[in-house]
Amino acid sequence: MKVLFFAIFSSIVFSCNSAQNATDQKKDNVAYAKTITAEDLQKHLYVYAGDAMEGRMTGSKGQKLAAEYIRNFYMDEGIASPIEKNNYYQNIPQSYFEGRKDPKSSENVVAFIKGSEKPEEIIVISAHLDHVGMDSKGNVFNGADDDGSGTVAILEIAQAFQKAVKDGNGPKRSILFLHVTGEEIGLYGSRYYTENPLFPLENTVCNLNIDMIGRIDPNKKETPNYVYLIGSNKLSQELQDVSSEVNEKYTQLELDYKYDDPNDPNRFYYRSDHYNFAKNNIPIIFYFNGVHEDYHKITDTPDKIEYDLMEKRTRLIFYTAWEIANREKRITADKL
Ligand SMILES: [Zn+2]
Repeated sequence: MKVLFFAIFSSIVFSCNSAQNATDQKKDNVAYAKTITAEDLQKHLYVYAGDAMEGRMTGSKGQKLAAEYIRNFYMDEGIASPIEKNNYYQNIPQSYFEGRKDPKSSENVVAFIKGSEKPEEIIVISAHLDHVGMDSKGNVFNGADDDGSGTVAILEIAQAFQKAVKDGNGPKRSILFLHVTGEEIGLYGSRYYTENPLFPLENTVCNLNIDMIGRIDPNKKETPNYVYLIGSNKLSQELQDVSSEVNEKYTQLELDYKYDDPNDPNRFYYRSDHYNFAKNNIPIIFYFNGVHEDYHKITDTPDKIEYDLMEKRTRLIFYTAWEIANREKRITADKL
């Protein structure tokens, strides 16, 4: 009797579930986005951009500590490596840095959530784990914004996706969390990755690259609810459309495209890690807050970060990745 009752009961539950599946999934992305909080971002960033990391210069002791922090996070969260069990490092040999003063080996840190329906199609979310080290007096360049902000944003995005996986709501396409080294000395880690990709580049749907999302551009003091998007329609109009649709729906930030102007002297499109994907014809979005008075100074510290704004920007990236990962059709480089 009990067993029979259970069988009938569970079949009713099951049929309700499948009928409501589409709506639930939509609702759930909001619940997962809410796990990305200013408080968690702040907690991570005070450690990640702390003095103990010694400014995270590529190949230094501090950079190795930073890589360990990222790896330990993924291990604790139960998010796998795409390389092999418990090995989250894509090692880059010293020879790759030849021509640099005092070349040292270094590593990208990678973690992976396998897609449930189209696992071969990969979305790469990237940020650089390195910064510029210390000055001759031993002052630490904390790099809280550059790029502690992008680094800890990825950790929170990964955690939100992992929660979805645990609920049986994991993304249809795969997501690679890519923490690249050697950015500050010349985009080495992202170049190494695109020359030695863990998944074929032709199956790489897009790259969402985060480099500095925790501060406010002095020109934006009056209208701080913004983020600069760079390169978002350079290869794919579809990618920009998805991004602006999810923003309209969920985050309502001002998406400022001013740095897409080909005459802009800053040439930011060429200056962070997404460029190594873009030059391989992979659609990209570069998320950026603009430069500010503490850029590449010892005063780029975690106490100056706007955590509430950073939460909103991080959620925008999460929603964008969620939509690209779950939508029916793969986005394409429709402007090639
Ligand atoms: Zn940077």
